Amino acid sequence: MNIINPATEDIIATVVDDTTATVVAKYEVLRNGQQLWAKVPLKERVQVLIRFGQLLLEALDELANVLTSETGKPLQQAKNEIKGASSRISWLTAHAETYLQDELMREDKDARLKEVISYEPLGIIGNISAWNYPYLVGVNVFVPALIAGNAVLYKPSEYATNTGLQIERLLLAAGLPSATFQVAIGGGQIGKALLELPLDGYFFTGSYRTGKYIYEQVATKMVPCQLELGGKDPLYITDDLRDIQGVAEATADGAFYNNGQSCCSVERIYVHKNVYETYLEAFVKQVKSWKIGLPTEEGVYFGPLTRREQRQLLEEQVADALAKGATILTGGNAITGKGYFFEPTVLIDVTHDMRVMQEESFGPIIGIMKVANDAEALALMQDTAYGLTAGIYADTPTRAIGLLKQLNVGSGYWNCCDRVSAALPWSGRQHSGLGATLSHQGLRAFTKPKAWHLVGNS
Ligand code: NAD
Repeated sequence: MNIINPATEDIIATVVDDTTATVVAKYEVLRNGQQLWAKVPLKERVQVLIRFGQLLLEALDELANVLTSETGKPLQQAKNEIKGASSRISWLTAHAETYLQDELMREDKDARLKEVISYEPLGIIGNISAWNYPYLVGVNVFVPALIAGNAVLYKPSEYATNTGLQIERLLLAAGLPSATFQVAIGGGQIGKALLELPLDGYFFTGSYRTGKYIYEQVATKMVPCQLELGGKDPLYITDDLRDIQGVAEATADGAFYNNGQSCCSVERIYVHKNVYETYLEAFVKQVKSWKIGLPTEEGVYFGPLTRREQRQLLEEQVADALAKGATILTGGNAITGKGYFFEPTVLIDVTHDMRVMQEESFGPIIGIMKVANDAEALALMQDTAYGLTAGIYADTPTRAIGLLKQLNVGSGYWNCCDRVSAALPWSGRQHSGLGATLSHQGLRAFTKPKAWHLVGNS
């Protein structure tokens, strides 16, 4: 498999794909390795992952260069991601013992009865991952999985293969036995090979389309299957705001950071008619102020898209919107020349019969719509098959929180957007997924509880 630099279209490396046979061999290695790893005390397992988090920071520049070279993410954003991954690891390792140790739920001294829950590892986890934040979405899965005593068969995205190999290198350097973590290299076919194996849990990050396929394939195995999928995340800008300028700048960043290639990127914006013109002007000004260029250049905010095909999808969404009456305020086109660049694009006069307001764009493009009141904004925000995040900007909390409660989403944002916290469950609803990573729920997601009914003197 050739690894392409999306900024230059150069082949930067060639790696050997796994085959079904080598994936099976890796699985066999893990089967033995998991049994031994589960016997290592929890405290010691945690220490290995703490060390991994430190190594990420020690190798920051080198890792960021690799990440930028294969995803096109601006170098500063690559560093931010790796630092963010290390800080998530800090939270997970600091709280692992609290949530994974045995819990005494009830004690009756007269009856000499104790009721206890223990958290046993699932076994071997299949982690099929995405490319847009390979460190963050990887860490969400393999770190708590390893802490809990599982082994992991990790399939990085074919667009983040070198990063996957760096992750393996540093885990081993941190003291993880190699029989506990194996990397499967390749694209969708190798992902499918994981589905053929009798793994003990499947944890997938990627598109709804692939997630649905995986869920169907795994169903008969009767093992946990968690899916972190896409979104069409809405924002509502109310007329109850003192600092429209600041809100426009922050929300433009929420829509365009990482070239809009985040599952929780703002994908559509509804603005109250009383502040619409002011907001729009400040928003477009902010978008135009950001530099487009090679992701290795200082000060660049927009690098190339990671995947060539995404340009075509964005062009189709723009053409569809224009044909149905939308207006472009800036951008609208792929940038010709080397690299998968696309102009940051702001569309207005959009409606919900346009693809750009319904389908995940996963790129630097946003539709902004004027609304008359909260009821109209709420109805439009609810009009989606997805359910990842939603945000409302308002100075009055009751107004924002009252609306957010009515939305079927995994994360509600008041006066913020496009953020994830290790302390909170990260979960999608409807087409955005199933199950939760991060927080205490994410630590326990890689375990099966055992109920102990203990009678006697202990
Ligand atoms: P994708 O579905 O194309 O691929 C994801 C992974 O699945 C890759 O490793 C790929 O090789 C593998 N795969 C593809 N076909 C497969 C098959 N038939 N069987 C098994 N594995 C297969 O998604 P992507 O382009 O890598 O990622 C972008 C998507 O991920 C977006 O929709 C984005 O919103 C979503 N995402 C969600 C989250 C979240 O936390 N909810 C985080 C990041 C990305």
